[in-house]
Amino acid sequence: RQPQRRCRFCEKKPQLRRPKTGHAVCRDCFFWAFEAETHDTIVSSRMFSPGERVAIGASGGKDSTVLAYLLKTLNERHNYGLDLRLLAIDEGIAGYRDDSLDALRRTEVSLGLPLTIFTYRDLYGWTMDEVVRAAGRRSNCTFCGVFRRQALDRGAGHLKADKLATGHNADDVAETVVMNLLRGDAARLSRCADGVTHTGGGLPARCKPLKYAYEKEIVLYAYFKRLDYFATECLYAPAAYRGHARALVKDLERARPAALLHIIQAAEQIRFRTDARMPELDTCRLCGYVSSQPVCKACVLLDGLNSGNPRLAVGKSSACSAKQQQQRMLTDAGRNRAQCCGSAGARRGCSGSACAAAADS
Ligand code: SF4
Ligand code: ZN
Repeated sequence: RQPQRRCRFCEKKPQLRRPKTGHAVCRDCFFWAFEAETHDTIVSSRMFSPGERVAIGASGGKDSTVLAYLLKTLNERHNYGLDLRLLAIDEGIAGYRDDSLDALRRTEVSLGLPLTIFTYRDLYGWTMDEVVRAAGRRSNCTFCGVFRRQALDRGAGHLKADKLATGHNADDVAETVVMNLLRGDAARLSRCADGVTHTGGGLPARCKPLKYAYEKEIVLYAYFKRLDYFATECLYAPAAYRGHARALVKDLERARPAALLHIIQAAEQIRFRTDARMPELDTCRLCGYVSSQPVCKACVLLDGLNSGNPRLAVGKSSACSAKQQQQRMLTDAGRNRAQCCGSAGARRGCSGSACAAAADS
């Protein structure tokens, strides 16, 4: 291709070619387009309402750093009227999360947004390094993903946030669509491409303002804006099943850049049969978190860790044995009630809420 002499939108010399559209643009027009598209995503899906408190799930990585910067910029530019907070989860991965949280603390100062950090150690009594030592590398992301989801909800609840904004980009959303298709998970497929998802159970709605933003453009935006972020991948990432979906989506993007958007748009259009069975939401009888089972997945995983059977907790068990495991957990929690420490915090043994819930069983 002949190098273009002018930016697609102005008279200036182009400085980059947008990975999403192929347009040659100058730096300022790239900023303008990228910010305008994010604003459009926010407005078109009615993501926020004036006066809301929004917890930004932040890690110090590129996506959440760009998200925090953009939300602050757009909040001021378009008068969204939002009260923005940074919320981080420390999984306890030495050499990775500690460094990324250092970057996040610098972002806290540069953006002037208050930061709150919750740790797996405090919430679950385990760090991810300990989980990997106990359970091995094959299922680390199952533990981590379930724990993080719950930790973010608990953190957002603690901050009294109305919404929880996450840095999921177009690549992440397309990967999730592909993953849910490959797993045949209709319930997740039906909502994974939504910009706003309501979990129910009094939890704040989750929002993805960057759902149409390409990862490559997020990197370019952070680079040209000189944002301070931590670029290293998680030490345990190669073991993630998601890696296969990621490789497939990246291949498709190389062949046709619009493929990412098309996957997301196709998922948005899918209509499910109204008689299809969707899980009914209730609350976990051990910890009170929203769950479609009497005991939530995080409690089942913790039970596996605490009882020295972590592989059992992630394995595919029959509906019958899963029920038996949950019943045993409820009975154990009831038995522990007499010696209950009653303290909040680490849940290695029983907790006050676990005992109280088990008493009802
Ligand atoms: Fe957790 Fe897996 Fe992500 Fe690492 S790659 S932070 S283990 S979910
Ligand atoms: Zn639970």
